[in-house]
Amino acid sequence: MIIDRTETERSRAMRAADCTNQKKNEASCTCTFISCERRGVCCACVAYHRASNQLPGCFFPPEAEKTFDRSVRNFVKVMQDP
Ligand code: SF4
Repeated sequence: MIIDRTETERSRAMRAADCTNQKKNEASCTCTFISCERRGVCCACVAYHRASNQLPGCFFPPEAEKTFDRSVRNFVKVMQDP
């Protein structure tokens, strides 16, 4: 039986406990949402935001990241006028 999961389902399925790189990734993570369950689990972070047409916080300059607007629209805007 083949199970076809969506990106969001895969993101939920990837738990912090499954990631062997979480601690290392957390050390360099620039996201200021410290309590996020996906923090340091980059594959889950990317899948979660991609499913909403967004980018992870680490793609944004610090001032833009703090707004928590992760939309592609905001990314294009801030990168054109950093
Ligand atoms: S970018 Fe989004 S998913 Fe990733 S750690 Fe920050 S709030 Fe969580």
